[in-house]
Amino acid sequence: MAHSYFSEFYKKTKTERTQALLDAGVINEQDRLFLSEKTLLPDQIADHMIENQLTQYALPLGVALNFLIDHHSFTIPMVTEEPSVIAAASSAAKLVAQAGGFKTHLTERKMIGQIALKNVSNLTFALEQLSLHKETILKKANAAHPSIVKRGGGAGDVNFRTIAATERSPEFLVVHVHVNVLEAMGANIVNTMMEAVTSYIEDITDGTALMSILSNYATECLATATCQIPTDLLSRGDFTGEEVRDRIIEASQFAYVDPYRATTHNKGIMNGVDAVVLASGNDWRAVEAGAHAYAAKSGQYRALSVWEKADNGDLIGSLTLPLPVGFVGGSIGIHPTAQFSQRLLSIKTAKELESVIVSVGLAQNFSALRALVTEGIQKGHMGLQAKSLAINAGATGDNIELVANGLKKSTHMNLEIAIKLLDAIQHQK
Ligand code: NDP
Repeated sequence: MAHSYFSEFYKKTKTERTQALLDAGVINEQDRLFLSEKTLLPDQIADHMIENQLTQYALPLGVALNFLIDHHSFTIPMVTEEPSVIAAASSAAKLVAQAGGFKTHLTERKMIGQIALKNVSNLTFALEQLSLHKETILKKANAAHPSIVKRGGGAGDVNFRTIAATERSPEFLVVHVHVNVLEAMGANIVNTMMEAVTSYIEDITDGTALMSILSNYATECLATATCQIPTDLLSRGDFTGEEVRDRIIEASQFAYVDPYRATTHNKGIMNGVDAVVLASGNDWRAVEAGAHAYAAKSGQYRALSVWEKADNGDLIGSLTLPLPVGFVGGSIGIHPTAQFSQRLLSIKTAKELESVIVSVGLAQNFSALRALVTEGIQKGHMGLQAKSLAINAGATGDNIELVANGLKKSTHMNLEIAIKLLDAIQHQK
């Protein structure tokens, strides 16, 4: 499909938006019907997904528009409670699309399982034994989950780490098994394998296993997105394109050296990442945990993205994240809205999903930085905040927009002023 822009999508009603997506061939008639129905989980599914289920907790799903990723157009589902996130992603995507779009690069999808051994009496002997019996360990791991091997994945490598004793901890010998999990996130696959090899590893090392479990530090399942933006697309308000570029680069440098800033910088990235991870039915805690560990890989917590100046003066952005997300497995297959998200994205693999998520993270980061180093973040935020205040004040229908517009013009924005504005509007009518 040629890359198409949706203009003023946000001004349309929900029905008009659905129709626009249908007209553009992004969704089909089945999806339109799905969207017109109640999108709550069927009770039977909700009851089997978790324990002690009482009710469901709703969050809105919206679409980020105009994404061009590896030369393909995407309309991206995002689930979030935070105003501005989808608008910011879409506006960055539109700009980056004019500059050729996002390019992504992915590693293989390998997850790491750990067995932590303690009380190893002879470390040298244990390490020798592990090296000697690598193939048997792999065979036993794969025998525990033969279907993943049949599909072309499975355990492919074993290595070991020793962690010296400290004042607070004993010595550990840690066995890592590297598993190609193909289209799954892989936690259950890996955990099954690790538990299956534990007693054999205890036997050959003469150690005691403390635990056998997946590591969420998914350093072998990495996704990188890059984009390159000419300065003539960057000017904003009184700032020239060169000034915006240089200030974004400085903001990136600040977030590299200062953990206080890096945390907020990365939170902005995760605003986009989590919203797509959630919409896709994946485990966002796994993605969050891995991302923040990766941000601290140098020993200091740093920005996950880097913005630099290209030789020709363009702004270049790059973001790398561990992205252990699945296209199958977990509750993805039984969640109707996660299934809808896959259809909306028109993707067929976990790798494509990774490309989308990491690009959204970079788009979100660009929008936040550009706003921060020019007009500030509040201008954009307060527009949507005004609508929330209007609804909180009791406005309905057209009055929401009228109260929000009044709030944007007033010097302060709070609930008291929203109530007064609503009162005045109601008296005028
Ligand atoms: P599943 O246990 O659902 O496993 C995925 C299954 O999908 C595989 O066992 C495989 O079964 C099937 N499958 C079908 N086609 C493919 C394919 N092409 N590639 C790979 N698998 C395929 O999910 P995961 O192992 O992915 O685990 C994810 C779940 O684990 C999430 O719900 C997560 O929240 C949870 N979890 C997370 C933990 C963590 O992050 N620390 C810890 C524990 C659980 P078959 O081949 O037999 O058809």
